[in-house]
Amino acid sequence: MNKGKCFIDEESINKALASRIKPSKEEVKDILDKSLAIETLEPNETAALLNVEDRELWLSLAEAAAEVKKKVYDNRIVTFAPLYMGNFCVNNCSYCGFRKDNEVIKRKTLTLEEVKREVEILAGKIGHKRLIVVYPEHPSTGIDYMSATIKAIYDVKTKTKRGCGQIRRVNVNAAPLSVRNLKHLQKVGIGTYQVFQETYHPKTYKAVHPKGTLKSNYEWRLYCMHRALEAGIDDVGIGALFGLYDWRFEVMGLLYHTRELEDKFGIGPHTISFPRLEPAANTPFAQKTKHRVSDEDFKKLITVIRLAVPYTGMILTARESPRIRKETLFLGCTQIDASARIGIGAYSGRYTEQEEERQQFLLGDTRSLDEVVRELAKEGYITSFCTAGYRCGRTGKCIMELLRNGQEGKLCKLNAVLTFKEWLDDFASLKTRIAAEGILRQEIQEIKRELPQVFDNFKQLYERVENGERDLYF
Ligand code: SAM
Ligand code: SF4
Repeated sequence: MNKGKCFIDEESINKALASRIKPSKEEVKDILDKSLAIETLEPNETAALLNVEDRELWLSLAEAAAEVKKKVYDNRIVTFAPLYMGNFCVNNCSYCGFRKDNEVIKRKTLTLEEVKREVEILAGKIGHKRLIVVYPEHPSTGIDYMSATIKAIYDVKTKTKRGCGQIRRVNVNAAPLSVRNLKHLQKVGIGTYQVFQETYHPKTYKAVHPKGTLKSNYEWRLYCMHRALEAGIDDVGIGALFGLYDWRFEVMGLLYHTRELEDKFGIGPHTISFPRLEPAANTPFAQKTKHRVSDEDFKKLITVIRLAVPYTGMILTARESPRIRKETLFLGCTQIDASARIGIGAYSGRYTEQEEERQQFLLGDTRSLDEVVRELAKEGYITSFCTAGYRCGRTGKCIMELLRNGQEGKLCKLNAVLTFKEWLDDFASLKTRIAAEGILRQEIQEIKRELPQVFDNFKQLYERVENGERDLYF
């Protein structure tokens, strides 16, 4: 803490939000120039953007957000799938279908055998290389279970059409852990450790997380990324659950969190998530919230996050409908999930797409990875299955630097093309392969033009992938 005070200071956030009513065009331009120089914004600058009302000015914000994304990440979209390990939980969060007192939920924790079966489908049939593994907070899914299941996931290797399917990066979404337990996760080899603060507004936090539950401790949650970085986990993911409190306040909270991590550790968040509250079984709170975020405001909050923290990865989840995902992706999102199922055991089980009483909430987009990749290709995006970064030590401070100066964008393009080709050969339908031909050709031409010094090397690797070799990267 800073002299006993926590870094989220409600009063200064409210003050910053109230201080700059309707900034001028010139003021906005100066701020956008700073975002385009890939610099984290100050609270008063972020508040100024949040206060923009003029439609024309919002359009210039959206254009700048798209340009920042292009500058840092180019036209790549990284894809992953969520894997829920269980739904027993000791907490009672008012908005969540898994809360302890929700009697309609069918509870289950996956065994190691069941985890393997899920991964065989995800890696062997769908072709995912990255997972976000989600754990509720319960003794049955404690640190030993987490370590064993993550190891089990990495161990699964399945035969595919031309090669071998395997999960190469396991990201984790779990309750805040102690430094000791985070060190265990670091040793097992996780990618990003992700925890959402849910709401940065202390009074709202208190109201939705009943007293006496583990989750009711606002500060324990707020400081979990400090502990993760202390434990040696370099890639941390923050987020807020939009719909619990005023969306502008939450964006400011995410910014303050980012600046605090930058100040204390020299590393900002690897990713920022911005889920919106969705309906859940027997959970009236999720439907009646007075802070529901409209589609229009959702677009604004994505735009401002992209501009305020220009280097961070931004995750747009399958909570959103295909239409909203299509309309918001270009505002600066970098990662989406696809073929998502969130019922426990739903990938290998005989459940239907959505079963309310097995899920934490209802999904908005259940399209297959093949369909999503096809749509992205038609829109001019290349789907990246690259997981090279953390396996070559490009994490934490190192990746922040590479992202800021635009180098990561170049390295990633090479790996994006190699992994995209690999996935197309192993898993894509004929329709998707045809849709992807143009973008693949265009990317290879760009590499030839912009990275002539590595082109021969790249070409050799590309041909080896074409001949069936797998997991080649720069
Ligand atoms: N139990 C851990 C925790 O609370 O941190 C693990 C994560 S929980 C299974 C994943 C996230 O789902 C939560 O952090 C919350 O933001 C989100 N979530 C919960 N209920 C939701 C709902 N009704 N709609 C959308 N997202 C929800
Ligand atoms: Fe449990 Fe997480 Fe759901 Fe809260 S949000 S009830 S902690 S699973």
